[in-house]
This record gives sequence, structure tokens and C-alpha cells, in this order.
Amino acid sequence: MIVPQWIIEKKRDGHELSSGEITDFINGFHTGSIPEYQMAALAMAIYLKGMSFEETAHLTEAMMGTGQKLDTSSLGGNVCDKHSTGGIGDKVSLLLGPLAAACGVKVPMISGRGLGITGGTLDKLETIPGYRTDLSEDEMVQVVEKVGCCIVGQTDRLAPADKKLYALRDVTATVPSIPLITASIMCKKMSEGLDSLVLDVKFGRGAFMKEASQARELAENMVKVGRAMNTPVAALLSRMDAPLGRCIGNNLEVLESIRFLQGDVEGPLWEVTRDLTAIMVHLTHSDVSLEQAGEQVDHALTSGAGLEVFRKMVEAQGGDPAVCDTPETILASAQVRTAWPAPESGIVSDVDAEAIGRAVLVLGGGRTKAEDDIDPAVGISQLVQIGESVSKGDPLMRIHSNDPQRLAQATELLQDAVTLSDTAPAASSIILERILPS
Ligand code: URA
Repeated sequence: MIVPQWIIEKKRDGHELSSGEITDFINGFHTGSIPEYQMAALAMAIYLKGMSFEETAHLTEAMMGTGQKLDTSSLGGNVCDKHSTGGIGDKVSLLLGPLAAACGVKVPMISGRGLGITGGTLDKLETIPGYRTDLSEDEMVQVVEKVGCCIVGQTDRLAPADKKLYALRDVTATVPSIPLITASIMCKKMSEGLDSLVLDVKFGRGAFMKEASQARELAENMVKVGRAMNTPVAALLSRMDAPLGRCIGNNLEVLESIRFLQGDVEGPLWEVTRDLTAIMVHLTHSDVSLEQAGEQVDHALTSGAGLEVFRKMVEAQGGDPAVCDTPETILASAQVRTAWPAPESGIVSDVDAEAIGRAVLVLGGGRTKAEDDIDPAVGISQLVQIGESVSKGDPLMRIHSNDPQRLAQATELLQDAVTLSDTAPAASSIILERILPS
């Protein structure tokens, strides 16, 4: 018999829970025999006392065990996905899925929605008329069989306890706990029937983890959980101080992604996309070195193969493939576009991802609560990049808005978003570190 308060007490006093205790507790929470207040108490005890690596792995397995695992056996191997901890302007999934598929990786990608200042891949793709993110598991596998990748939302059958626990953590101040985050992310990813996984763990002003040391701890923990489950997991630690790319906002990011797949690539967005995609190719094809994998990714881009996969994926998921040819005529645009002029001449030394994220949220492009509607057309485009020179009066960005009051509020938030200096900032790579499975 399980006595939940004894398990809570044990963790409260800093002791290690057994695999059986963790499994019984999670199963009880999932089936409803353990009420939310006891789960919340255990989550807080975990938040305060932490978990050993073994406990974290058991928690991951227990949450996976509340649902089904996606049957990817018909895909014939090379199944890999990427997870990002989220950032401002992070459209990497839209690019990496098709590019990796063009290099022979099978990508059944399950993504999320935006909450707070970070955007969500599903919200972006749903701006394409007809695009369905609610595919069944069979449909998902069929799309991957046909085109190499799909990008869909979470189904209720994959790790359902996580959805319930995440909602509870959200309202009990227990989200920022490394073992809870590790188990939450890994139980969903490991339920996708993957052969390997790549993580983009972001840190900085516009990320959920502010410090590189926290990001490293999370990344190392997830890589270790993968190893315990016999699944190779690699991680990048990447900076999220400035937005990724020039567009922030749902439609605008789809537009930028299509331009990117048409070959218009530059800067940190390409750097991080290329690296993550190359790792996926390398992990799934043991005879391909990381360097060769990078060259394959370059070819998938320059040959247009990545764009073709994106087109086929959009079509297979019910969307209008013409978005790949004339995105401006297919995607809704905002009523008003306002250029934001540089107050003086100088070199862009900083772009504040958090300020930009908040401004887009205020414009209507993000959510403060999971049930909020978003305005897909608003956001920021043509954002200057760090290191670029501007003359007084040149646009630092363009703001796309549909509501004058929201525009005024966003404008306030953008006052200090771009810093101009007399000298160029020291060049630094967006990638701090790469952790490969040993
Ligand atoms: N993303 C998740 O899926 N779970 C967490 O706990 C945090 C971020």
C-alpha cells in the first residue's frame, strides 16, 4: 500500500526515493488516487531538496509509463528529434526538421506552443492556412514515412502525467527545478520512439535559464538520462541574449524561415541551425563525421532540398504549399508597419531579447495564459543584428501592429532594446559548448 505523505516526508527530509516509490506516486497522481495537493507538496520537496540522477531517471521512466510510446518501427531507423528550451525568434525547428530530413534523418517532431515571451513552433506553423498540428500518431508516422519529417502538437497518449504535472508546477512555483525539468522534457521526447535526440539548451536574458552554469547542469542531466535509457543524446549550450534572426512574431518568423530555406541565411540563426542539424545527421549515421554532416546540411540548403521537404510537409499536414513560393500573399499581414529609426549613427553592440520578446507579447503575438488567443500577424521584422553599422535615421527594426494602444505600449518597451556604440563588440559565437554522447 502506498502512503503518499510518507513519500513526501522522505523527500522533504532530503532522502532518496526508490524507483517503486516514484512510480507509485506518479501512477497515483495520473489515475487520480493521489490528489493534486499531495503531488504539489512532493514537487515542492523535490524543488527544495533536489533529486539524485537515479531518481531523475526513475521519474522520467515513471512519467513515460503513464502513456504510450510512438511506434516508429516502420520508419526503419535513423529517427531523431531536437528539443529547444526556447527563446526569442527561435525558429530553428522549422528549418532543422526539413534540412535534417533532406539528409536522411527521420524526424517525428513534437513541438509546443508559446507561453510568456518565448514563441511556440505550433503557433508559427498554424499561421499557414490549413496546416494541422493535431495529427494522430498514425498520421504522424505516415507523414514522416512520406516526406521525412512532421511537426505536430503533443497527443494525449504520450506521457499524459507530464501535462498534468506541468500545469500544477506552473501554479505552485516549482517549474525551475533541474530534475523536474529534465524528467518533463525527457519523458516526452523518449516517448517519440527516437533512436537519438539533440537538445538546444539556451541561456541568457531571453531564455528560461539565465546562467550558462544552469544550462550546462540541465544539459548534462538530460544527456545522462538518455544514456540510462540507451538513447544517445547530444546538447548544445547556446546564447539567447539577442533574438535569433531578424523577425519575431508568428507569421513573420514563417516568412523568415521560408526565405532562409530559399538560401537567404546569415549569422547566429544559421550557425545554430547548421550545428544542431549536423549533429542529428552525425548521430543517426555513424559513418558520417560531424564535419561531413555539416557539408551535407550545407548542400541540403543550397540545393533547395530542405525547402522541398518543408513544402511537402506543409502539404501533407493540410497546409497550402504555395506559402513556399509567395509567402507574403498567403500569410496575413498586420495593418500598420512602423519603422523605428536609429537615434544616432553607430555600431549595434547589443539587442535585448527580453525587451523584444515583451514588446511582441504586448503587440498580441504571445500569451500570458495558455488559453489566450494570439495575433499571428504582429511582431518585429528587419531587426538589426549585433555588429552592423547604422546611420542616424536608418530603421533599427519595423514594428507590425494591429492596435494603436498596443503599439504605444510596445514602443515604450523598445526604447532601450537596441544599443549603439562607437566601436564594434568583440565577436563571439552563439554556441558556447557542445556536449556529445560518449
Ligand atoms: N519544458 C518542458 O517541457 N518542461 C519543463 O519542465 C520546462 C520546459
